[in-house]
Amino acid sequence: MQVDDAFELIRQAHARARLAHAYLIAGPTRGVGGELAQRILQLLFCPQAQGPCGTCHTCQQARERTLADLFWLQPEKKSRVISADAMREKLLAEIAQTSLAGGWKVGVIAGADRLTDAAANIFLKTLEEPPPRTLFLLLTDAPQEIMPTIISRCQRMELDAAVVLAEPWRTQLLACLSAATPPGPLPAMGLAARMSDILAGIKDAAEAEVKVEVKAEAGLLDEDGDVIKARISARYREMRTDLLRAWLYWYRDLLLLRAGGSEEQVYYRDYRTLLAERASKLTLAQAMANVDGAEELNRQLERSLSEETVLAYWMDRFVSGVAALTATARPTPG
Ligand SMILES: [Zn+2]
Repeated sequence: MQVDDAFELIRQAHARARLAHAYLIAGPTRGVGGELAQRILQLLFCPQAQGPCGTCHTCQQARERTLADLFWLQPEKKSRVISADAMREKLLAEIAQTSLAGGWKVGVIAGADRLTDAAANIFLKTLEEPPPRTLFLLLTDAPQEIMPTIISRCQRMELDAAVVLAEPWRTQLLACLSAATPPGPLPAMGLAARMSDILAGIKDAAEAEVKVEVKAEAGLLDEDGDVIKARISARYREMRTDLLRAWLYWYRDLLLLRAGGSEEQVYYRDYRTLLAERASKLTLAQAMANVDGAEELNRQLERSLSEETVLAYWMDRFVSGVAALTATARPTPG
């Protein structure tokens, strides 16, 4: 299931006061799984009447995991497990208290497959009789490793791992790809420049995200600066891969439509009319060249060539390579 669909189900359940006590969110914990958890927190706590605004102070706190009634548990750094002590002190004792803001209390267990048996057993007791207005979110990318008695008490949401580009990047990428582009090589340069902007934003987000995690991990000291840097860099590469994959899907959709595929089969269903119109202006060779170009860029970045070099290559390829194609059709980068 896509993250938007999962969120919509939860939004509807919340509107009808039919939320489950616990959701097991299976999918990449740091990608879509984490994004869904964040959106659910914003749904429960954002004071805006029209549902989560994503921009107010409360929504910001949800992003930073600093909400007073949020208790976030994740594996300890050294042992890589969630111990019974951590479960008791950081989650269950807190969740048993009255809510500070007078509303919901939420316990998030990120990496729920890392609960020790003892921690899982203690948690199970609370899960069987949860306090009122309490919601548990269990995030995991390995649901098969969670105790079946826990799984059976959660509503399970299986997130599509193929859709991993989190917001706001998805919106920015699609705005960039769907923008009207006049013929000529300049749109390719503009696209590359906008991709650079999005990547710069992703870099900042990766840093902010790792810093939030580090803060939550008492064991990580200041002198572990290199460790933190390495984690930021690893997180950034993951997010960049997600971005490039989402970007590649756009060109795959164009190729699919150009090759006679049905609009129902496209990945970006909301854009199928626009995609069909764009595809009709491409030759089959161009549609294929675009997919090749996107795949090539992915491969080059994975070979850890410097990003500047690769983006420069990409720009050059589109400017010179696509200019050669203009004799037959317009050089549409998207
Ligand atoms: Zn808000």
